[in-house]
Amino acid sequence: MQETGSGIEHHAALELAALDVAGLRRSLRTLVPLSGSQVKWHGHPLLNFSSNDYLGLSACDELRAVMTEAIGRYGVGAGASRLVCGNHAPHEELETTLAAFKGTEAALAFSSGYATALGTIPALCGSNDIIILDKLCHASLIDAAKLSGATIRIFPHNHLEKLERLLLNARKVGDVNKRILVITESIFSMDGDAALLREIVELKDKYHAWLLVDEAHAVGILGPQGRGLIAALGLEKRVELQMGTLSKALGVSGGYLAAQRSVIDLLINKARSLIYSTAPPPALAATASAAIKLVQSPVGDALRIKLMQHKQSILPLLGDNNQANLPAAILPIIIGDETVAVNTSEALLEAGFLIPAIRYPTVARGTARLRLTLSAAHEAQQIEGLITSLLNLVPQLHGSKERALKKTTE
Ligand SMILES: *Cc1c(COP(=O)(O)O)cnc(C)c1O
Repeated sequence: MQETGSGIEHHAALELAALDVAGLRRSLRTLVPLSGSQVKWHGHPLLNFSSNDYLGLSACDELRAVMTEAIGRYGVGAGASRLVCGNHAPHEELETTLAAFKGTEAALAFSSGYATALGTIPALCGSNDIIILDKLCHASLIDAAKLSGATIRIFPHNHLEKLERLLLNARKVGDVNKRILVITESIFSMDGDAALLREIVELKDKYHAWLLVDEAHAVGILGPQGRGLIAALGLEKRVELQMGTLSKALGVSGGYLAAQRSVIDLLINKARSLIYSTAPPPALAATASAAIKLVQSPVGDALRIKLMQHKQSILPLLGDNNQANLPAAILPIIIGDETVAVNTSEALLEAGFLIPAIRYPTVARGTARLRLTLSAAHEAQQIEGLITSLLNLVPQLHGSKERALKKTTE
């Protein structure tokens, strides 16, 4: 490449070299999907244990047919932002479907979960306000909180006493009219555990705060008809802001915020990621509506049962991680060292399994892990093959073979 003289190539090369040294350099890989659970990479078929497509819906024939038909009717793009001339019937239908699914008056669809957070949080909070987040909240929530200009406070993961102290302090200082927004996920993306949602709801009510719960990894999987953890606990009327994505268990792409009608109307006026961005293709919205209906149907129930069977067969391997009764599909295998995690992931790749190493800054330094995700698209014998390879290749699991055997002979 030509030197521009600006020094930007030199800057980039130095930063990349530092990432290399720290074992933190990332790069893109191109995968060819072979089936719901298999991909081809550099000519090799791999079993995919890294996707968030927990129910295998991204490859679902019924949804393919819906999208194809909708493309025939609406074309491939929306043409403009929702407020200009990009608002089509499938967008409206998706939002009606989402509101019914989440048990709220209304919902608003965005082009991604990330765009949902970035649009919603700064529309509701500003520099006079306080946002309190769980330490393990997703980057989209943290970025959105920063963008809002509000004062940010963090509580250690699921630490209720610390949350209460932050709420108490937030109510004490400054303007009595300031808003306090508590943010958590329902199932955490890198640990697969659940928020203490009932207790958090009690606390935010006690201090007159609002609560935003991101259900990215719970929707489609937990709760009656896959409605999520909020619905599983009957808290639909008590959580002000229900956020989620259409891009994970729903198999498609996009994000949403479900809330009372007035809140949604305000977001239509103030959420900049909605106002200044082209609407998602109407065909995508039509497909997402169909995915939500499928998830709520007996087909969805059957997929959830299959997913949980996989989880039950692999849990003994991972030891007691408090996850046994939680129907979440994320199973972290904590390795610790970043380079060891990457090497382990590569050894698994050689053995035919795609399980990425997750490192800083996605997770804290020294807590690098393999993030194993299960899908209803997997077959039982693929899970068995995975268990064998994990036992052979992940030293951290030594001792768990005995546990696994003990479990089966009990
Ligand atoms: C994936 C994810 C998002 C972002 O959703 P996209 O639709 O992929 O942009 C937001 N929050 C959490 C917790 C996530 O895991």
